[in-house]
Parts: sequence; structure tokens; C-alpha cells
Amino acid sequence: MHPSLDQLRRLQDLERQAAALRADIDMVDQRRRDIEVPVLEARAALEALTRTIDDRQAQRRTGDRDVAAIQQRLTKYRQQLMAVTNSREYDAAQHEIATAEADLKAREDQTIALLFELDELTPQAEHARQVLASREDASGVALASLADETQRHKLELANIEGSITALRPTIDAGALALYDRVSKRYPRGAVGELRGDLCIACNVRIRPMLASAVRKGEQIMQCENCTRLLYAVKPAAPPAPPA
Ligand SMILES: [Zn+2]
Repeated sequence: MHPSLDQLRRLQDLERQAAALRADIDMVDQRRRDIEVPVLEARAALEALTRTIDDRQAQRRTGDRDVAAIQQRLTKYRQQLMAVTNSREYDAAQHEIATAEADLKAREDQTIALLFELDELTPQAEHARQVLASREDASGVALASLADETQRHKLELANIEGSITALRPTIDAGALALYDRVSKRYPRGAVGELRGDLCIACNVRIRPMLASAVRKGEQIMQCENCTRLLYAVKPAAPPAPPA
């Protein structure tokens, strides 16, 4: 293989590794958001339950005050009943008492329904708190490991970028210029393999003479179809016969 091609393959390999690391690093914010989704969902569920419980408890307190007020009314009407002087006043007091008793019954029924509901809501909220706590733990671990991984990737990327910077000036200037030109068309894919006389990248066969020149490696040859810089891998040696 042409010696510059070997270096260009190494350069291309480094550029691919750098691109993959950059893509990983670019994905970090998205991955962090993905990790946080279950926590946000659990927190929202707990908040909704807490709001419902607060609301039902407020209703209960209002109900208790209403019951006390109705009981006061009842006491007053019952006293009035004792003091009536005619049947019209008696009927009126009886009517007020009946209305107040119906109100009282309705209010008490509401309180019982609220108590039943609160009995169900309280363990649900407790469960939601546990779910939130365990998801917060899990996401904390995942975020920490993501941060470690990102840190590692940034160091690796810095190393690779350093290697690229060191490698480029050691490559023959003409070969590097050709590589950079073809790279504009095929970023991180300017160098391609020739197998037999087939360019693997574009899947087109080149002339046998050109293929043989690629194998000789005296100069850098380009695919006639896609213009990639071609290299040929020597076929693997057949396994040695058993001794
Ligand atoms: Zn090609």
C-alpha cells in the first residue's frame, strides 16, 4: 500500500472516532432529559394526589363548619318550637327544623364520603412518594454515570484531536490535499477499500489496470466512478498446514 494511504486511513479512522464522540457529547442534554422524565412524571403524580387531598381536607373543614352552623340553627328552631303561640308558628318552626335536619343529613353524608375518599388517597400518596424517591435515586445514579461518561468522552476527543493535529503535518502535502478535496464530498469517507476490482464504497468495478496499480501502491489511485482514494487489503494468508 502507498505509505501516504496508510496515514490517510489512520487520519480517516481518527476523524470517524472524533465524529462519533462529538455526536455522543451532543446527545448529552437529550439523554439527561430522558433520564429525568420518569422523575418528573412521578413528581407530577404525587403533586396531583397532594392537591386532591388538600382539596378534600378543605372540603371536610368547610363541612364541619356547616354542620356546626346547622346544629346551631336546629337548636334555635327547637327553642322557637317551645315558644310558639299558634299553629302557624308551629308549622313554620317544624318546617325549618325539617329543612335543617335534611341539610344536616346531606352534610354528614358528604363528610362520610370525603373520609372514605381520603382513606383511599392517603396510601396512594404514600406509594407515590416512594415511587418518586426510588426514581430520584435511580436517576441520580444514571446522571452521575452520564456525567462520568461525558467527561471520559471529552478527554478521549481531546486526545484524538491532538493525534489528528500531530498526524496531518507528517502526511505528504499532495496526498493530504487530495484527501481533503475528496473529503468535502465524502466527509470521513474519502478513503475506500478496493476488493478485487470492486470499489466497496460505490460498488462499481474499476479497470483491471487501475486495480493492479492500487495493489502495487506506487501511487495513490482514485476510483473512476466515485473518486475515492483506493486501498487494497492483501488477502489473508491461508492457514498453515498442520505439521
Ligand atoms: Zn468508487
